[in-house]
Formats: sequence, C-alpha cells, structure tokens
Amino acid sequence: MGIVVQKYGGTSVGTIERIQAVAKRVAETRAAGHQLVVVVSAIAGETNRLIGLGQAMSKTPADREMDVLVASGEQVSSALLSLALNEIGVPAASLLAHQVRILTDTKHARARIQSIDATRMRELLDAGTVAVIAGFQGVDKDGNITTLGRGGTDTTAVAVAAALNADVCEIFTDVDGVYTTDPNVCSSARKVPRISYEEMLELASLGAKVLQIRSVELGMKFGVPIHVRSSFSAVEGTMVVKEEEALESVVVSGVACNKREAKVTIQGVPDHPGAVAAIFEPLADSNISVDMIIQNVSKEGTTDITFTVNGEDLVAAERVATEVSKAGGAGGVLVDDGIAKISVVGLGMRSHAGVAAKMFRLLAAEGINIEAISTSEIKVSCLIRERYSELAVRVLHEGFELGKKPSTLPPGLA
Ligand code: ADP
Ligand code: ASP
Ligand code: MG
Repeated sequence: MGIVVQKYGGTSVGTIERIQAVAKRVAETRAAGHQLVVVVSAIAGETNRLIGLGQAMSKTPADREMDVLVASGEQVSSALLSLALNEIGVPAASLLAHQVRILTDTKHARARIQSIDATRMRELLDAGTVAVIAGFQGVDKDGNITTLGRGGTDTTAVAVAAALNADVCEIFTDVDGVYTTDPNVCSSARKVPRISYEEMLELASLGAKVLQIRSVELGMKFGVPIHVRSSFSAVEGTMVVKEEEALESVVVSGVACNKREAKVTIQGVPDHPGAVAAIFEPLADSNISVDMIIQNVSKEGTTDITFTVNGEDLVAAERVATEVSKAGGAGGVLVDDGIAKISVVGLGMRSHAGVAAKMFRLLAAEGINIEAISTSEIKVSCLIRERYSELAVRVLHEGFELGKKPSTLPPGLA
C-alpha cells in the first residue's frame, strides 16, 4: 500500500466548509487504499494577520517570538482538519513540528529542514490513522520553534514525502496546476501537464509562488514526484518531473514576476581592490541574500554599486549599506522599492540564441525601460518599474507565444 502526502494551502482550508471538503477528499483517498499524511497551511490570511499583530506590538520584534506567533496558524488548521476527519469517521491525529520532530537550523523565519523523524508518522499510518502535520514550522536543536519562510508548507510536504519515501506529494492549491505564467495576471496563461524540476526551480525563485523554491530543490534532490493540482476540482494538475520526462520542448516555457524585490545603491564608492568585498561581506553576515549586482564604470576613482534584495530585507540592507558607506568613505545610499523583476525561463535557451534580444525588444515596444539585467543558462531577468509589471508579463507571454500549445516532438528530434 503506497503512501501519499497531500498538502493543502491557505485558501484550500480557508473556511470551515472548505476544511470539511478537504476532509472528504482525504477520506476518499484513504478509501482508495492509500496511507495518508496531510500537511496543512494556516487559514488564508492568518499568517499575515499574525505578522501584523507582532509588528503592532514592536517595531523590531524578536525573530524567535515572531516564529512562535506565526507558527500558531498551522497549529489551528491541523487541529481543525483532524476534528473534521474524526467527524466523518476517519481516525486522524494532528502533529506539530516538535512532535514529529522536524529538525531545522536556528535561522528564524527562514529555517532550513535538517532532518525529519518518520517514526511517529509511521506508527500512526500503521494504525490506520491519518497524520495531519502542521506545515511551515520546525524545531531547532534547542527546542525553539522555527518557521521555513513564506510558503514554507510546500517544503514541509515535500520533505515529509521524501522522509517517508512516498509515492507522490500532491500540492492542492487554488489553481489547477502550473501555468506558463500566473493565471491571475494573464488570462491566456496555459496549464502545462509536465514541467522539469529545473524550470520549476527557476520559476519559483523568480516569483511564481505556486511552489516554494526550497520544496522544488528537495523534490529534485530526493526524486519526489510533485503533483500540483486544484483543491476545488478533480482534474489532473501538473507533474514536476525529471528533465528527460518533461514533454514540451520549447525555448521559453514560462514568464515569472517578482514584485517584492528592492534596489539599494551605494554612491561614490572608492574604486580599489576590496571595496566590493567590504560591502557584501557585512550583508552576508547579516543573512541578507543579494540577487542582482551592478557596478558602474568608475569615474574619477569612484563608482556606484547597485544591488537588489528581497523587499523583506530592505530595512536591514539599508542599515548595513549605510554603515558600510560611512566606513568606506562612500557618498551615501539610495533605496528604491518601486521595482519588479520580470523573467523568462526555458530549458531550450541553452541551445537557442536570441531570447534576451527578443525580450528587450518586446519591452521596448511598450516603452518599458530596463534598469538591470541578469541571465543564467535557462533564464533572462530584467528589472523594471513595478507599475509596468503586469503589462510586461502579458507582453512577454504573448510575444513568446506561450498561450499556444507547442508541437510535441519525440525526444531527440526537438
Ligand atoms: P497556497 O496558499 O495554496 O500555497 P499560493 O498563493 O502560495 O497558494 O500559490 C498559488 C498562486 O500562485 C496562484 O493563485 C497564482 O496566482 C500564483 N502563481 C504565480 N505564478 C504561477 C504559475 N506559473 N502557475 C500557477 N500559479 C501561479
Ligand atoms: N502560512 C504560511 C504562509 O502564509 C506558510 C504557507 O502557507 O505555506 O506563508
Ligand atoms: Mg503557497
């Protein structure tokens, strides 16, 4: 009998009725002969509400206490779903992260899972009980509650599936699969039946929040089949699979947009060896991940250095940049959170030239200015004004003809 892990996101458990609908689906899966572990998010909006409460209490809330606060959302939904299952005659027990033992490092609000003890879950499964795990939370070696970053329940689910060697990890959400771009932004977005881990990883890291990045990384590392599908219908969703199993051979497979990025510029940095290291070392020490970096041509011995960070890190990044600027004799710091990063992704870019040029032309035709560019083997990203982000998504989606179903060639002929 195979093990199935099902994850239900915030909207899927958004109301009492929806939790009851989830219970029904869980009961059906169990009746079909599967052993079942369910991982739940907090009720939609709850995590934001809890963050708001913490911020109302303190301008600089301690990360440790914020994790205790926000982790409570998943505690509530895991108990409610267990109650709903019991009501319809399905034995179920909720488990919080410390009860499973989902061990993480100590980085509050962005902790990484180090190990999962499958013993307690297996005992429940062997007794015919559905294990309902509170997503998003972990516990560190000292017993402190940690959380895995926004959207972290996806990661809990894939990690649990890996620990149990499950047949599949089903991610139930409010869209019925992975699309060529956010279907809530672009009406011609097309659902893809299969997508490779590599492309999904890029899309996730570039702003497609349908899966948290770390969940895709873990899925790829441990070979967990991930099925993204709708909570509200029974239609097949999207399978995230190994590259060679992905059906579509296209140059560009998706467009993603991240509005949460912010830009920091340090002006007049003395241009000598070690100056750049002196900026980015303290940022790294403060756990701030930097995305794009642009260094201008030096004029009269000084240069401007611009970098982007996640919007959540902007306050901390500005503080560090200001300190570094003063210490290094630079001219001052400018911040800008009115930007968005728009990206096109596709495995086919490895062998096809011209994608970047086409992207620049499509944006130019709409009068959208590009403020920075970065590329990798399978993506091109441009920084633009945030107010143009949705227009840019639609223009690129249309320009690269992503709404059209590509011809599927046999492997090797693509
Ligand atoms: P959940 O609460 O179930 O975890 P999320 O809101 O985190 O759901 O993720 C689902 C949302 O991801 C969708 O409602 C959609 O707006 C967004 N999204 C962004 N890019 C894509 C994409 N390429 N395909 C599907 N959904 C996407
Ligand atoms: N509740 C958390 C969040 O809103 C985790 C999740 O939903 O995956 O980010
Ligand atoms: Mg999510």
